[in-house]
Amino acid sequence: MKTFDVIIIGAGSIGVPMSFYLAKKGLKVAVLEKLASEGRGQNRAAIGGIRATHSDPAKIKICQISIELLKRMKEEFGKEIDWITGGYLFPVYDERTEKALKKLLIKQKEFNLNIDWIDAEKVDKLVPGINKTELRGGTFSPEDGSASPLKVAGAYLSLARNEGAEFYFNEEVISFETENSKIISVTTSKDKYSGGIIINAAGGDAREIGLLTGVNIPVIPDSHEAGITEPVKPFFKPMVVDIRPDTQSANYYFYQNKEGQVVFCITPKPPIVGKDTDSTSEFLPLVIKRMLNLYPRLRNLRVRRTWRGLYPMTPDGFPIVGFTKEIENLFLAAGMCGQGFMLGPGLGLITSEIIADGNRRYDFITEQLTLYRNFSGTEMLK
Ligand SMILES: Cc1cc2nc3c(=O)[nH]c(=O)nc-3n(C[C@H](O)[C@H](O)[C@H](O)COP(=O)(O)OP(=O)(O)OC[C@H]3O[C@@H](n4cnc5c(N)ncnc54)[C@H](O)[C@@H]3O)c2cc1C
Repeated sequence: MKTFDVIIIGAGSIGVPMSFYLAKKGLKVAVLEKLASEGRGQNRAAIGGIRATHSDPAKIKICQISIELLKRMKEEFGKEIDWITGGYLFPVYDERTEKALKKLLIKQKEFNLNIDWIDAEKVDKLVPGINKTELRGGTFSPEDGSASPLKVAGAYLSLARNEGAEFYFNEEVISFETENSKIISVTTSKDKYSGGIIINAAGGDAREIGLLTGVNIPVIPDSHEAGITEPVKPFFKPMVVDIRPDTQSANYYFYQNKEGQVVFCITPKPPIVGKDTDSTSEFLPLVIKRMLNLYPRLRNLRVRRTWRGLYPMTPDGFPIVGFTKEIENLFLAAGMCGQGFMLGPGLGLITSEIIADGNRRYDFITEQLTLYRNFSGTEMLK
């Protein structure tokens, strides 16, 4: 049996960066992944948006740390991840959304978020040619940005390996052995491992992994589609998020990546619950109609590819982070909803401080994101 200080289940948006920060603290780390390489689960479905613009202190803090880490990735480690500081823009066309976002601004500023209300002219400067009919302005957070999910996963994999973390691909975790409320071994399709701490970072499969340990983790995935266009010269900078619901969708968002491609994604209404990742013919007509109405300049762009992935959702839209009461050496980093890519680096660093240093300064995060909350809240910007 191979023995480690920490075993992470899942080499995804969360597991890969986490392995680096834990290994950097001197811990012996193993990552067990059922797929053939890093980031092949939902990480590859993410379109690359990274914002600290949330509505609660825990996610704001985690993503502020992520932004700091990713912004410095090239300078510090020489890894190209296609980071762009383009900001996040929520354009507003109706009074109800304006009131809601302005109310949220007060809270966001309390949590030290760099965000402000900007008028319609400024919105048009950021996204030249945006539909100005009834445009009232919007909120803009200039420090948010984007990066390539595949490059970020690749960068963290090599950094983690340099620090001694070991990755076991094509190994599915199939069972656990527990004794006196502790996991004493993890069995995969190929081998058996023991670890001082076991981290469930299994994304859309976190619930199934939880059930193998007797812990019920309410993570239910739903399907989301995305697409990417051909590359063109840069013509707008921010991630544009339109949170006005219509009859078939809750919101949609898009930005132009470092290659010049416009990447976009929509949140279907009602949610399509389950693990279906087959693309549909309904997605493009639905999202394109909304995008062209908001930003007519996109009309001549050709779509290159579409895909469908999963949001590992929780009932309230917030992640689940922290140790469980049932199994004392089981740590959860699951239920990342639509933000696992942006949460990954920050959560990795924070978790390494909690586990390796016993640092208590992030207690407010594990208290807010505990499995034992009542899940009655709703994340406004999920
Ligand atoms: C269309 C779309 C667009 C998105 N856009 C964004 C975005 O712009 N920004 C953002 O932050 N997020 C975005 N997301 C959400 C993001 O992709 C997810 O929240 C994130 O990838 C979840 O990270 P994770 O590490 O929990 O899961 P994953 O990245 O899926 O990693 C979990 C890993 O666990 C492995 N695993 C599962 N079970 C086992 C087992 N039994 N044994 C071994 N390994 C196992 C899986 O194979 C997988 O590799 C988007 C999602 C979709 C679908």
